[in-house]
Amino acid sequence: MTKDFLNDFHWLMDVLNNIDVGLVILDKDYNIQLWNSFMQNHSARTPSDILGRNIFESFPELPPAWFKRKVESVLVLRNSAFTTWEQRPYLFRFKNYRPITGVAEFMYQNCTIIPLKDTQGKVEHICLIVYDVTEIAVNRLQLQTANEKLHQLSRTDGLTGLLNRKTWEIELDKEFKRYHRHQQPCSMLMFDIDHFKSINDNYGHPAGDEVIRHTAAAVRESIRETDIAGRYGGEEFAVILVNSGGQDAKLVAERLRQKIEQSTVCYEDMSINYTISIGICELGPNLKGPVAWIDAADKGLYEAKHNGRNNSVLVPKT
Ligand code: GH3
Ligand code: MG
Ligand code: MG
Repeated sequence: MTKDFLNDFHWLMDVLNNIDVGLVILDKDYNIQLWNSFMQNHSARTPSDILGRNIFESFPELPPAWFKRKVESVLVLRNSAFTTWEQRPYLFRFKNYRPITGVAEFMYQNCTIIPLKDTQGKVEHICLIVYDVTEIAVNRLQLQTANEKLHQLSRTDGLTGLLNRKTWEIELDKEFKRYHRHQQPCSMLMFDIDHFKSINDNYGHPAGDEVIRHTAAAVRESIRETDIAGRYGGEEFAVILVNSGGQDAKLVAERLRQKIEQSTVCYEDMSINYTISIGICELGPNLKGPVAWIDAADKGLYEAKHNGRNNSVLVPKT
């Protein structure tokens, strides 16, 4: 009987030590009573370093208030509690050593805290089970980053990084509705590069692309972060100036026009000067919808072209 019991006990100890999860037993004062091989290997601390010592003194990265709240509930309710890497990436800061997931600096951990009953059924100890979930966490985080990038790519134009037409039109719709709710002034610039065909013809298509990128950069530098700029077509751009009336929009348009007129695009050994024409339209109560607003700004653009290009035209608010 005693021999069998000893065998069982040895087997159990072997299992505890070789299992690929961390096992820690704590008493009510948070002193460490058991520290299995997993914990020894990853923390580089032997049982003689650690047994009987307070867990918070040994692992300052473990936040006492948060951890105590978890443990107290396990002791009182006699139910297990869980922590996940999403809530807190780790309880113990262990180096990540796995070659596949070598991108992670530390081991991501899920943990279970279970109540341990003594022979009289009293719960005076808890067992902490620590799972290495680095692979899952890294995969999930990489997927999340890839999805965010994809989302960003699907919203923007590849050449300029500005919003693509579809996304810009969705934003336009929102701003139109917002105007009718709050009546805050809002204006649109619609502009087009002058004689762009001859830029392509004279300097080549790649140089033309560089000019388009340059225009986008100039737009970004000329507007506020809350303004909404998009590449509307090949060399046509559209900007919604949030909280700007027609006169303010005219100032922004002129600043942008002059900035472009005065700058030179250098591509390979070529120096390219170019200009833009701009139509400006402040949103008014009589514009029936977003399309009517675009049409009105477009009319201004047409007039600016007609006036000889390199100028901006504010159409009357309706
Ligand atoms: P205007 O002053 O009247 O605007 O004259 P324009 O020559 O600029 O005429 P238009 O706006 O019709 O020209 C558009 C040209 O832009 C035609 C097309 O070949 C060129 N284009 C459109 N998209 C791109 C692009 O992504 N890269 C380059 N390099 N050219 C483009
Ligand atoms: Mg053009
Ligand atoms: Mg055009």
